[in-house]
Parts: sequence; C-alpha cells; structure tokens
Amino acid sequence: MSEFDLINHFFKSTYVQRDDVLLGIGDDCAILSPPPGKLLAVSTDTLISGVHFPESTSADDVGYKSLAVNLSDLAAMGAQPAWANLAITLPNANTDWLERFMQGFNELAKKHNVALVGGDTTKGALSISINITGFVDHHKILKRNAAKKGDLIFVTGTIGDAYLGLKAVLNNLNLNEHLAYCVKRLNRPTPRVETGRLLGEFSLAAIDISDGLIADLNHICQSSGVGAILDIEKIPLSESFVQCTNNLPDWQSILTAGDDYELCFTCAEEQIKEVQSKMLEHNLMISCIGRITDGSGITCQLNSKEFTLNQSGYNHF
Ligand code: ADP
Ligand code: MG
Repeated sequence: MSEFDLINHFFKSTYVQRDDVLLGIGDDCAILSPPPGKLLAVSTDTLISGVHFPESTSADDVGYKSLAVNLSDLAAMGAQPAWANLAITLPNANTDWLERFMQGFNELAKKHNVALVGGDTTKGALSISINITGFVDHHKILKRNAAKKGDLIFVTGTIGDAYLGLKAVLNNLNLNEHLAYCVKRLNRPTPRVETGRLLGEFSLAAIDISDGLIADLNHICQSSGVGAILDIEKIPLSESFVQCTNNLPDWQSILTAGDDYELCFTCAEEQIKEVQSKMLEHNLMISCIGRITDGSGITCQLNSKEFTLNQSGYNHF
C-alpha cells in the first residue's frame, strides 16, 4: 500500500463522527468548530518504540496507550476530549500491524468520543505522536500552581501497577492473573477524564502521574511554591500488586516509577467532604496520601518515620 492508500484505508474511515468537525481527514488541514465560550486545551505526547513501550508490545496496546497518555493530559487540566491528530512513523507499510493499532486506538477513541481529524504518515523507526484537543471552561481549569499550605494531597486509583507490569514484561516472566493485571495497567492505562472534569468544579491543583509520583508531585510543589509531606504507607496499591509482592511493597520504585497515568491533586481542608462525596457518587476511587506544607521539596515518611528516597523519577536525558 502507498502512503495515500494507508491514509484512506486506516485513518480516513474514522469511527467517531462529530458535528464540530466541519472538514476532517483529506484536505491540507482539518476545519473544526469549537463550542462558543469554551477554551481549548491542547497537548502532544510522543511514544517511541523501546522507550515508551517495550518493542514486544502488541499493536492494539500501542494504539490504545498512545491515545490514553494524551487523554491523561486533558484529564489533568479538567478538559473534555474532542479531536486528535495522529503523526505516525512506521518502518514499513505493515497493514496487519496498522489494523490492530487502529483497533486499540478506536476502542478508546469511542469511549471518549474523540474524532481523528488529521495527521501525518511517514517511514522510519516506529514512533507515534498524537496531538489532542479538548474543551474546558475558563473557571474549571486544573493548574499545577494552585496548591496551598495545609491542602491535602490525593491520588486516583492505585499506584505502582505499571511498574510491576513493566518489570514482568522486561524479564519475560510467566503471567499469572495478578501480573497480567499489572501488564494491562502498563499497556492500557485508564485516563482519568471523568475525575478531572469533576475536580474542575473545585479549582484544585492537579497533574497526571506519568514520570513517577514524586517527580510529578514535585511539579505541583514547584509551580505552587510549596513543599509536601507524603505518608507513603497510605499510597493505594491494587490487590494484584499486593499479591505479586507478597505484601512487601518496594516503596522506592512505587514512588519513582512512571506510567500509572493516575491523577495527583490537592484539596483544601474545607472542600474535602464535598470532593469525596462527589467522587463516591460517581464511583471513583481517591486516596489521601499527604499534605502540602510551606517551604519546598517533598519529605517522605513511612509510619511516621522519615523515609529516604534514593532516586527521583523518569527523565529522558
Ligand atoms: P499534506 O501533504 O498536505 O501534509 P498528507 O498527504 O500528509 O497531507 O495527508 C493527507 C490527509 O490525510 C490530511 O488530511 C492529513 O491530515 C491526513 N493524514 C495523514 N496521515 C494521517 C494519519 N496518520 N492519521 C490521520 N490522518 C492522517
Ligand atoms: Mg498540504
């Protein structure tokens, strides 16, 4: 297949149709019509084979994850996803691979009503770059700089599963039910879009955890000019994680490994009841893991005793 056959066959026949896409794939640009009064939230994330996913990752998982990590950025701003652009570089025109890649991509696109409106298709080492656009109300944006001394620190879901999953894949371990769950969390993270949008009502500080809990919480602290104390025994772990580690969690790794794509957010004491009941109402799991302090930097404690971190988080360079 030629480049144009690939575009027509795999990308043009998009599964999600939206009325605000006046002109989608096929011209030099897409023409899009944002809802009046909304702001646009725009972000790009690139996934490189062997860097952001093991080379052995199946095509459908790569498709799913590529979109998931981009949706996670919108979630962290409190935005509602709408449009995606897909720039893909492939070593060859492997139609089988592309078919499965788009299956994974479309599965998640449907869940979040994201229309694929354009992109670019080139030959080279496998890499996927998605540009995502969402809508957000002016007064419901979740920024990193809104944390204040005394706020409590929360995370969604569970932390550490992706790290265990990655370890299992890289070491070619046999996957029992629990390890398989962790590998799924690595390959198909759940972008917390609904949680982000609900949190938007409360003008909180939020970030998505892509580079590790400490590294990403530190971004909130630096942007907000505050410090934090983490009670690491309060970090929520999945049942599978606990089973796989015989209830002896490796906190160093849990704190610093990336790829969970949960949200970390802060919340003033007087808002907690309202936030918690909103989350409960929507069946969304959140856990309080610490508190914002004045000063700078993050102090970790395990059962009230100081805990020294010997690494920080993922950094490309
Ligand atoms: P141009 O040469 O003007 O950049 P292309 O020939 O690269 O346009 O692309 C033709 C059309 O196909 C454009 O609308 C572009 O957005 C779309 N397109 C190309 N590659 C992809 C892709 N991987 N996913 C989605 N749309 C794509
Ligand atoms: Mg052109």
